[in-house]
Amino acid sequence: MCGVFGVFNALHAEKYIFYGIYALQHRGQEGVGLAVSDFEDIKVVKKPGLVLEAIKKEDLEAVKGYSGIAHVRYSTAGDAGDQNFQPILRETPLGKVAVVHNGNLVNYLPLRAELESKGVSFFHTSDSELFLALLGQGELLPEGIQFHPSDRELLPALFYVLSRVKGAYSLLYLFKDRLVAARDPMGFRPLLLGRLRETFLFASESCAFDILQAETWRELKPGEVLVVDAQGMRSYFPFRSEKKSMCIFELVYFSKPESFVFDSWVYRARRRMGELLAYEDDVSADVVVPVPDSGLVPAIGYAQVRGLPLELGLIRNHYVGRSFIEPTQELRDVKVLMKLNPNRAVLEGKRVVVVDDSLVRGTTSKKIVSMLRRAGAKEVHMRIASPPVIGPCYYGIDTPTREELIANRMELEEIREFIGADSLRYLSLESLHSVVESPQDFCDACFSNCYPLEVEGTALRMR
Ligand code: AMP
Repeated sequence: MCGVFGVFNALHAEKYIFYGIYALQHRGQEGVGLAVSDFEDIKVVKKPGLVLEAIKKEDLEAVKGYSGIAHVRYSTAGDAGDQNFQPILRETPLGKVAVVHNGNLVNYLPLRAELESKGVSFFHTSDSELFLALLGQGELLPEGIQFHPSDRELLPALFYVLSRVKGAYSLLYLFKDRLVAARDPMGFRPLLLGRLRETFLFASESCAFDILQAETWRELKPGEVLVVDAQGMRSYFPFRSEKKSMCIFELVYFSKPESFVFDSWVYRARRRMGELLAYEDDVSADVVVPVPDSGLVPAIGYAQVRGLPLELGLIRNHYVGRSFIEPTQELRDVKVLMKLNPNRAVLEGKRVVVVDDSLVRGTTSKKIVSMLRRAGAKEVHMRIASPPVIGPCYYGIDTPTREELIANRMELEEIREFIGADSLRYLSLESLHSVVESPQDFCDACFSNCYPLEVEGTALRMR
């Protein structure tokens, strides 16, 4: 998972992208990068760590300009090493270009091998590099496409690139004099367009426009390519539309609750998941406790439907960073305890329903259940506001291997026993579908094991 942000036509573009990408920090914490054009040259700064800590005043001074793109990284393809931070910058036959990408390509390996056999060099191990390596390698102008005269050179090269890559991409290209945004034809990952007076903005989620007090204009459509330059903005649809496959996990967990993505308010969708979980449940309890922050919104929906009080039985420490000290056996729960502390004032002697958004490996739930019991909970009923995760994601969410997914190895009752809860319930897949208006437009492979797009070289069950 990653977050992308872009701006075109702003005095001090570097400041806009700094704040915009800061608002998308939840989408990646490994590293941050900015690329800025002053219409003559493109400069890049990339650093490991969180936006506010990594990017210093001097870094912004060094990349001043009028348009820019930014990225926060959470590695899902390629090594986690610093050389894979984005933006990636390259000298191409179309000049100097930088790119940021959210999503995973499913034909990276064969495509890279093909290009290498033609003598194209690669400097990274990330699939995103293909968007630059393919520029200038061929031309394609699909029939019937009318284009603006100033796009004459760019579009055939760009459409060739997009015709060769397969998979999930919400991406931004920064050329010296223009910015290009593209969303893959299946629309796996979100990408939105915003505006602030004469300034165009692009972001993975609408929450990044809020921080700039900008307007959320609209979402790019699956398969849409937008070109912005001094002449204005042009929209193209180079390829025939495909079956949409928007990632339902964005609504379950990934996007911020206040964001608008996939034509939905994330908060409403997530709250509804909690409500539906409650309609399917009749356990007797005294209190509903959310696992902060991801369980909070569904817990609100759950508690309201059940008519139970919602209380903060787990308190999150907001200053948690990365611990470089490996805990000893005796301190093995310390990593979860650094983040969450049980609140005895709420829990003592109570029958607790604890709500989280998802259960993946089961290790977090296990620690939370024992934490709640140690703090005096009489009963602990774990409720998960999404179905069991049974399939790894190949389109850009960081999920463990199939074997590590607990719901692949154990039945419900075994999972309950493993996490130590008195009862365990998940939201059904049917209920999750009912949260969105057109479930057939969503990818739910992590919950259904039905994959809309094959990973080249891997056998998957297709839809
Ligand atoms: P676990 O079952 O221990 O693997 O972890 C489940 C917890 O991790 C839940 O509280 C989720 O909010 C959170 N979670 C789910 N998916 C992801 C992900 N892709 N990356 C990071 N955390 C996640």
